[in-house]
Amino acid sequence: MKFGGTSVGDPERIRNVADHVARHRRRGDEVVLVVSAMGKETDDLIRVAKEVSGTRPGREMDMLITAGERKAIALVCMALADLGVPAASFTGSQAGFITDTKHEDAKILEVRADRIREALEAGQVPVVAGAQGVSTDNDVTFLGRGGSDTTAVALAKALNADAAELYTDVSGVYTTDPRLVETARKMNSISFDELLEMTANGCPKPAMRSVEYAVRHGVKLHVRSAFTWESGTWVVEEDPNMEHATVRAIVHELNEAKVTVTGVADRPGVAARLFRALADEGVNVDMIVQNASEEGTTDISFTVPHDELATAVSAAEALKDELGIRAVIGDPSVARVSVIGAGMRNNPGIAATMFETLAEAGINIDMISTSTIRISAAVAEEDAERAVMVLHDVYRLDQSEY
Ligand code: ASP
Ligand code: MG
Repeated sequence: MKFGGTSVGDPERIRNVADHVARHRRRGDEVVLVVSAMGKETDDLIRVAKEVSGTRPGREMDMLITAGERKAIALVCMALADLGVPAASFTGSQAGFITDTKHEDAKILEVRADRIREALEAGQVPVVAGAQGVSTDNDVTFLGRGGSDTTAVALAKALNADAAELYTDVSGVYTTDPRLVETARKMNSISFDELLEMTANGCPKPAMRSVEYAVRHGVKLHVRSAFTWESGTWVVEEDPNMEHATVRAIVHELNEAKVTVTGVADRPGVAARLFRALADEGVNVDMIVQNASEEGTTDISFTVPHDELATAVSAAEALKDELGIRAVIGDPSVARVSVIGAGMRNNPGIAATMFETLAEAGINIDMISTSTIRISAAVAEEDAERAVMVLHDVYRLDQSEY
């Protein structure tokens, strides 16, 4: 069971978590907890660091940030002790999380969960600090924002647990952002592939890396509420029933920007040169469109995350003479709206409906990209939320599918 920041945000919430764990223990479940820092503590620690320092060495940032989770695990254990539930807290290092040396965004290399197993055998509830480990250089590391989800999934895998339950402040995975669309519906289940597409295209929770880990290792996930404690959304292998539901979810990503490179020569190797230069600068390119050529030249447009726009534009500009580029234009105000569903594979007409619906709403499509179970359209940022609403409506996602 992983508890996010809001789930342990104050003393009362921490005691509620302890109550919930005690109930499961009485039912005979063996439980391991992974806990995030309380409330917005991670944000607060990062803010203080920025006030203190302009350099902020990664090693020291990780030492600082991981303190948040360390406080939370101790407090959760104290609340459990009050209920007579034997518990023991473990830092990431104590729990056996070995990571690489990339501070602030370390990757898990191995989980040596012996101490956690021993604690379980001794009848204790192990309470593990999320999003942290110890590097191959023996330094404390932070797994990055949202890393506690990954800790939970990796630990579930290492312990061969029945499932990783990710407790959060929403009651599950919704057909779209419920803050945007009133009729958004909680799904009882969703496939790994669908959730992976959702998290890769704008759905903020669970953290995408944790879903990738779960997919790779076949860890069953249960995304659920730490407020109402009701059953949430199970993330499972695709079941044959899911084919009936063609579209399952609409997600949107505002953190998108567009670069247009005009007047490039239409000859072999030009796109290769441009995108190699972008890759060398660490730019993550998402959608790409190359126009039909006119008089030997063509335009290429692509999207990148907002904060990579300046880097992308200057990388393209550096190639101006070499590729005969006429102009490089950056546009920060684009968004990506995506329609996702595993049943899309065998059902024609999903794209047509999507484009007709956007057209009727007067929303212009700038670029399109697809996977076997996703269609994405780049639209003006100001149109994104309206696009989500009309699409959620047209595919009737407010109605349960089975
Ligand atoms: N507390 C960390 C964060 O806010 C890790 C986590 O909660 O997953 O990103
Ligand atoms: Mg968090």
